[in-house]
Amino acid sequence: MKYFSTNNPNHKVSLSEAVIKGLAPDNGLYMPERIPVLPKELIEKFSQMSFQEIGYAVIGALFSEDLSESQIRELVDHTLTFDAPLVEVEEDVYSLELFHGPTLAFKDFGARFCSKLMSMLVEKSSKTLRVLVATSGDTGSAVANGFLGVEGVEVIILFPKGKVSPLQEKQFTTLGQNIIALEVDGVFDDCQTLVKQAFLDADLNKKLLLTSANSINIARWIPQCLYYFYAYSRLLKNGKKVVFAVPSGNFGNLGAGILAERMGLPVDHFVAATNVNKIVPDYLQGAGFQPQPSIQTVSNSMDVGNPSNFPRLGSLYRGDENVFREKVKGYFYDDEETVQAIQKVQLQGYTLDPHGAVGYLGLKEFRNEYPGYVGVFLETAHPGKFRDVVEEALGAKLILPERLAAFLEGEKKVLELGKSFEEFKEFLEGLD
Ligand SMILES: *Cc1c(COP(=O)(O)O)cnc(C)c1O
Repeated sequence: MKYFSTNNPNHKVSLSEAVIKGLAPDNGLYMPERIPVLPKELIEKFSQMSFQEIGYAVIGALFSEDLSESQIRELVDHTLTFDAPLVEVEEDVYSLELFHGPTLAFKDFGARFCSKLMSMLVEKSSKTLRVLVATSGDTGSAVANGFLGVEGVEVIILFPKGKVSPLQEKQFTTLGQNIIALEVDGVFDDCQTLVKQAFLDADLNKKLLLTSANSINIARWIPQCLYYFYAYSRLLKNGKKVVFAVPSGNFGNLGAGILAERMGLPVDHFVAATNVNKIVPDYLQGAGFQPQPSIQTVSNSMDVGNPSNFPRLGSLYRGDENVFREKVKGYFYDDEETVQAIQKVQLQGYTLDPHGAVGYLGLKEFRNEYPGYVGVFLETAHPGKFRDVVEEALGAKLILPERLAAFLEGEKKVLELGKSFEEFKEFLEGLD
């Protein structure tokens, strides 16, 4: 299968190139040139299959030209090492809990798939693949944990000193093995600039095999479609139409849901739920696509003013804005509404995180406007990950899950770095 750039359908590359390059040279996003449609009978059979078996079928349909059957199994097995339970919060309102992975957020799915696929694609090369990541928190922890111990790949994480929450920092600075954390004396943008300079540096690229694993990479994007198939297969539909509500920032997660739908999953509608960074809800209301500076909120993993996966959404609907606006309904919520939702749902016996709360609100509003649906909102992080906000909303202490608490006990190991590129380059040159 070839992958084309959303900026130029005639620019096509192999799977390997799309994954290692990440972004197309014209800054477009890679997309599969054909979207396979699964037979209806197969999708119906998913209800009797395990998450892994569903994974083999879906990933097989997309990757069987490029990977062997055993590679597809290995890839899916490495990705799906934890469950994604569907929990009924109210009648016909379900939470799809995507936070049972190592860093307690849905990004674990994409990061685990990406690491394994990259290691398969470089298997034949004698060079170590070096993944450079600049992070302000979430991405670093998911990527580091996803790549931990994966052969042939080393991860170098740059993060701004003193700007990442202690819990998040622990999730990527305590791992060791093939994960190196660089504490940069600067802000997130300095980290990002260093990484970009490294990709442009001719000497470095001659010597080292560098890649990025950022959130627009197809190897992180595509596997997210798996839990839509899984959730649908486990949902009690009672003959009702199905809607998925997705709390969104860069819109990779929602895009993967649309991919599942294009592959034949009978989803009737999607809800694009955001905080006050409402670029996409505004677009869906009929405005143009108008990126804005991002605004800080309590659901800070969705504080995105220029959603990077937006071109994918239109592309999945073959550029037809009318179909896009008909299928996807946008709603947005401010911090006060988000906190109130956390409080209200707690009284029903379920604890939301701030991102899931936005998804829940979007689903409720959709169901008010369009009755008769059974709905699923994606719970993208464990509430303990956003402990400050949730504890303040509830006026009570949360009990942290064991694997989150375990990170806090690890010893932080970092290399300190200034923000000059020369220093970073010297470090990278010393690696081989
Ligand atoms: C990254 C993230 C999101 C946003 O996902 P996108 O795919 O960027 O839209 C939502 N919730 C949490 C907890 C996240 O970490």
